[in-house]
Amino acid sequence: MADHYEVLGVARDASPEEIKKAYRRLARQLHPDVNPGEDASEQFKLVTHAYDVLSDPDQRQRYDMGGDASAFGGAGAGFGGFSDIFESFFGGGGGGTRAGRPRSRRERGQDALVRVDLDLGDVVFGVHRDIEVDTAVLCETCQGSCCQPGTQPVTCDICHGSGQIQRTVRSLLGNVVTSQPCTTCQGYGTTIPYPCSTCQGQGRVRARRTVSIDIPAGVETGLRLQLPGSGEVGPAGGPNGDLYLEVTVAPHDVFSRDGDDLLATLEVSMIDAILGTSVTIDSLDGSVDLDIRSGVQSGDELTIRGRGITPLRGDQRGDLRVGVQVVTPSHLDPKARALVQELAKRMRPAPPHLAEFHPGLFSKLRGKFKR
Ligand code: ZN
Repeated sequence: MADHYEVLGVARDASPEEIKKAYRRLARQLHPDVNPGEDASEQFKLVTHAYDVLSDPDQRQRYDMGGDASAFGGAGAGFGGFSDIFESFFGGGGGGTRAGRPRSRRERGQDALVRVDLDLGDVVFGVHRDIEVDTAVLCETCQGSCCQPGTQPVTCDICHGSGQIQRTVRSLLGNVVTSQPCTTCQGYGTTIPYPCSTCQGQGRVRARRTVSIDIPAGVETGLRLQLPGSGEVGPAGGPNGDLYLEVTVAPHDVFSRDGDDLLATLEVSMIDAILGTSVTIDSLDGSVDLDIRSGVQSGDELTIRGRGITPLRGDQRGDLRVGVQVVTPSHLDPKARALVQELAKRMRPAPPHLAEFHPGLFSKLRGKFKR
């Protein structure tokens, strides 16, 4: 019966890191993608099973006490002597290479992220923007072929178009055939004898492009709008990535947002609060007439229907909600003071008195404003 420690070529007191390292080294050598042989496949299973057991602290403890019922039978050689000949293959970062076939020069372009600054007015109705983006576009000279016009890629002499170089290595397991990307053509299977001089054989060039977009109403800070296919073109004319617009809405001096509603404070002088008045206020889309009733109180809320934000989904606009704050004059000239004193005699106002604590709508609104 194969001992798991021997299979991985580690000591019985090996640390989890040592076990992981040993497994990775062996897996690179024995993985079926690299090593299609029958023997290698069996060894790979053995090594993987040993790792499954020894990498789990509970299972490892049980195994050390002799309790691993599922241990494989068969080959029990120590594998510690293997060289790292395949390290270069996995460590080299071949970029999506699969064994046995050449890779394509055409790849999808990267996504791009652009930030867009809006103000609250833009959000109420939506806005059209032309946005400048630094990106990659198709090379007009070669149309993405990467070759000087009139020339073509030629089959690589070294790998004969497969993009791969096979090597046979003798090991304890017998002859092992491995393949590596051809270094002459970087795995493409072809070379380009005359690269396009405009794009240096990349098939694309850097450019500044203008993207026109209708930003819908109701967006908010942090929202990302996706424009499929508006990112950069891929290498060798590969498909475009996507463009993302990330929205930032600047705080407004007067209005703040609560869902689809807009909030503001209306400061009303004590005199107007007593007598009532009418006022014209500037909303984000024109003026609105408001009646202030006689006797209005701080914290009263006035709602102007349909003057809020058009939601991102749906077309029912929110409301404009105005919280009243009654402003008490802090300076009176002697004449005005005498008049108020006259009024006080006449009204005999009730002295200040305690009542139940009541946060009231206005303080709730204020809380929202402070966010
Ligand atoms: Zn070109």
